[in-house]
Amino acid sequence: MSNKTIPTKLLLTENELPKCWYNMNAVLPEKHDPALNPATLRPCTVEEFKGPFCDELAEQEFNVTDEFIPIPEEVRDFYKMIRPSPLIRAYCLEKALGTPAEIYYKFEGNNTSGSHKLNSAIAQAYYAKKQGLTSLTTETGAGQWGTALSMACAFFGLDLTVYMVKVSAEQKPFRKTVMETYGAKVIPSPSTTTEIGKKILAEDPDTNGSLGCAISEALELAMKTPKCKYVLGSALDHVLLHQSIIGLETKTALEKYDIEPDILISCIGGGSNFGGLIAPFIKDKINGKAKYDIIAVEPASCPSLTRGKYAYDFGDTGKMTPLLKMYTLGNGFVPSANHAGGLRYHGMNPIISKLYHDGYISVNSVEQTRVFEAAVQFAKTEGILPAPESSHTIRAVIDQALKCKETGEKKKIVFCLSGTGYFDLKAYEQYNNKTMNDYIPTDEDLAKGFATIPDIPQNK
Ligand SMILES: *Cc1c(COP(=O)(O)O)cnc(C)c1O
Repeated sequence: MSNKTIPTKLLLTENELPKCWYNMNAVLPEKHDPALNPATLRPCTVEEFKGPFCDELAEQEFNVTDEFIPIPEEVRDFYKMIRPSPLIRAYCLEKALGTPAEIYYKFEGNNTSGSHKLNSAIAQAYYAKKQGLTSLTTETGAGQWGTALSMACAFFGLDLTVYMVKVSAEQKPFRKTVMETYGAKVIPSPSTTTEIGKKILAEDPDTNGSLGCAISEALELAMKTPKCKYVLGSALDHVLLHQSIIGLETKTALEKYDIEPDILISCIGGGSNFGGLIAPFIKDKINGKAKYDIIAVEPASCPSLTRGKYAYDFGDTGKMTPLLKMYTLGNGFVPSANHAGGLRYHGMNPIISKLYHDGYISVNSVEQTRVFEAAVQFAKTEGILPAPESSHTIRAVIDQALKCKETGEKKKIVFCLSGTGYFDLKAYEQYNNKTMNDYIPTDEDLAKGFATIPDIPQNK
């Protein structure tokens, strides 16, 4: 198909909505190291996972055999309201950059949560309801996950308590209002509603809070509440499974329009939008059949992959989760008040960590002011105000496109525009006022975080 025939929106029909999710764990050449029970240091069993998590989600977490897992009809019916999401050719951005590269973005921000998070939230709430639970707890960093889960719980009639990282709650008060409108109870974290929250506050009353700390609080509440489980918006393998809908649709659309990508790229917080985008592409990459590069983008302020250690660590500050083998800055690492709340996580999903460790993907790290410069350029040309998280991706995409301008290469760059930035206006205001700063942790800052990684034989 010649270039000119590629429309701006590469749309799919409802019939082309995937019927199954894609499970990367079934195709990894070497499985990632299993989660460990911190008490015994033995691999966790699926039964142990069913303590804090919903049964079906625990089963999915342990599924390393089924490449395709059917999407329940009720979840698929919900997806139909917001999906298939458009894959958009960024003609206007290309023109503004004067690049010969072709840029395509999968837009996941077209729902009230303003992000891809609803793809997993709706699945998780569905399984909780099916199991007969009455309430859920969770944490939220930037607020997108909390909003998405509030929507999903409202849809299936479940109560929800959301621990929101304190700095985000202060920066984005209206996020709280949206969640409350959907019926959720929102508590800034750390709080005095949990033992771990009280302990963290006693140690550091002025803390900004962190995702790791909010996770501990949400877990603690779930464990002491009947018919209540804890759900997580990123980092675990079953979340990436649900997000594979992003990549599956992208792949179908690219094939439909006969486009072979050269670069797949997206930002990583816990790894879910990136993992979702690359899921159906990873098999060819592993087999050596693919010609594309896969690039993850992380903030220089929270550099889990580029500067972290590959080790067993807790997913939370309170050391309540199983130990996961992942790239980590240490469960005690508290990132600076970077605006990309969704990327302020000390760890990384184990599949993504393994793929990085084995050399299948590469990573870019980008600084905040350059990220917002890219965000504004994108907003002015493509008509969407991007989320700060997604703007990390845009920064890296623009850099790639400018490189093509120098070399004359017509690379086809595909990225996930994971969300919109309408609740991040404080950050945009600071960028516009030139009061934004780029805090990059020093080696000493990182050493403090690394000291909190457990000293166990598996990490020797
Ligand atoms: C949460 C979030 C991210 C980062 O989380 P991942 O799990 O790594 O995808 C990125 N973009 C947006 C818009 C988000 O809400």
